[in-house]
Amino acid sequence: MKALLSMMKYIRRNRKLWVCGIFVPAFFSTATNLYFADRLQRYVIMITERRASLWEIFGMLLITLFVLLLLSWIDGMGLCAFSLFSAFTENELRDDFYDRLVRTPMNNLQKIGRGEFLIRYNTDIEQSTQIASRDMFGVLYPLFVGTGYMIAVLTADFRIGMIMVLLGGIVILLNFIFVCRIKQVQTEILQAKEVCASSCSDAIRGKMSIRQYCAQRTMSRKIEEAAEQLYQRECCRVRLETLKILTSGMVADSCMYLLTPFACIMAVFGSIGVPVVLFIHQLCRCFIMYTKNFAISFLQYSEHSLSFERVNSVLSFEDEKAENRGGRRGRAPGNYAITFRNVCVAYGNRQVLKDVSFTVSPGECTGIVGESGSGKSTLVKALMQMIEYQGEIFLGEENCRDLSLDILRKSIAYAPEHNDIFPVAVYENIRYGNLMATEEEVNHAAAMAGITEDRETFFRRDVGENGGQLSGGQRQKVSLARALLKNAPVYIFDEPTAALDSEAETILLNTVLQLKQEGKCILLITHKASTIHVADRILRVEGGCVFSEEQVL
Ligand code: ADP
Ligand code: MG
Repeated sequence: MKALLSMMKYIRRNRKLWVCGIFVPAFFSTATNLYFADRLQRYVIMITERRASLWEIFGMLLITLFVLLLLSWIDGMGLCAFSLFSAFTENELRDDFYDRLVRTPMNNLQKIGRGEFLIRYNTDIEQSTQIASRDMFGVLYPLFVGTGYMIAVLTADFRIGMIMVLLGGIVILLNFIFVCRIKQVQTEILQAKEVCASSCSDAIRGKMSIRQYCAQRTMSRKIEEAAEQLYQRECCRVRLETLKILTSGMVADSCMYLLTPFACIMAVFGSIGVPVVLFIHQLCRCFIMYTKNFAISFLQYSEHSLSFERVNSVLSFEDEKAENRGGRRGRAPGNYAITFRNVCVAYGNRQVLKDVSFTVSPGECTGIVGESGSGKSTLVKALMQMIEYQGEIFLGEENCRDLSLDILRKSIAYAPEHNDIFPVAVYENIRYGNLMATEEEVNHAAAMAGITEDRETFFRRDVGENGGQLSGGQRQKVSLARALLKNAPVYIFDEPTAALDSEAETILLNTVLQLKQEGKCILLITHKASTIHVADRILRVEGGCVFSEEQVL
């Protein structure tokens, strides 16, 4: 029910289309069938009692045809409105979903997994839209239309009407029983499909790593097991579908095929007229057709609501600190010392930083060393407000929590340890660091990052997905050039030389010295001895604490 309530927002936004899309077809298709059944009855009366001339009958036929075509044309227009509603809603939901992903803090993104998740969510968005469109249609339409036919048949002959309603009720009940069981089986089918897909994606990734043979073998065994599960479940579903057809389908069909002969027998005994038999026959067929599909819509709703739950888990992410939100300071601080005061960070239950306090002075290069996994990158992520932390971090006099994200991130040029490369040309990749930069500035930043390749061709190169067509060193240089293009007062380099050759490393270290001369505040995280020697002083991260080491230079 929660899914339905949440989708109400979209129904309200496009309410005119929704009302037109559901009620116009329902109303006009009921009207078409009722009108046709009524006309049929009249023709029989006219023909059997021979009251009308051939011309009169022909004239009536033409009018009937015109009215029926008009009604079904309006019905068709309603269905167009329905499709438009579906398209609008899907787009709005997708827009909200991606907007939320872009705005949410980084730790939320880590909850939902790696890149391939978006393809799965796209299907979920399509399925969720159907809650407001097809599922509502599947329930409301038969309710509306079925009630119309029911009343018409009950009025024509109460006894036959009652039998029809009773049999219709049995069909719906039987459908519900099977539908609930099929729903369980379908959940298991979905799980098996997910295991197949994720094992296959692991195997592909494993192929590229050193574990290739082991990974491939383990993953293909997992895929085989999941495929076997999938097959078993599919067989179970087919069995249930067959049983459903044999029971509820047969009741529905007997309703259709028994009621008309029954009405004929009643006509023989004179309790109803022959024309009424035709009227009842026509409407019974329509009534049963909708009854059969009524329960299926509930099944689809429960499937779609599973999809919606996944989409909703993203929709309910909070926004990252709103940029320049009221009350937040949008002024850049005058001095750029960085002060950590009693900062604690935990990932889940695991405490990574414990009560860390230290100050980094402006105008010098501070090195940060420590074992892998000691929490060096975590220090920077907290400063950049990418993760939650306790305690306070100051940029100059300003508490980072009070600074708008826009100002904070403009004040810091950050080259993260994972060199993110976007699927655009190398030049554009660098320019993302400062979209206002001129070509000359991009060239300068590239030179400072140690890009010694022929820039004319290198800048225009396609980088492939995740920069896969660049070497590790090239990716690192592009990422460094992007940070250097920013011209901020604070520079943070996280393992900047991990993938660089010694020539590029020397160029980068010269750049660091140059930045220092320009009076920038530099934080250099590294574990390489050849890199750390440019630092004026060193902080060591160990056991979740930060210790100061003696001056190096
Ligand atoms: P490093 O000193 O190598 O830069 P990090 O700061 O990246 O270390 O990580 C510190 C610890 O926190 C590591 O043990 C790492 O496994 C853990 N960690 C880092 N990021 C996450 C995360 N998003 N979720 C859970 N644990 C994390
Ligand atoms: Mg790190």
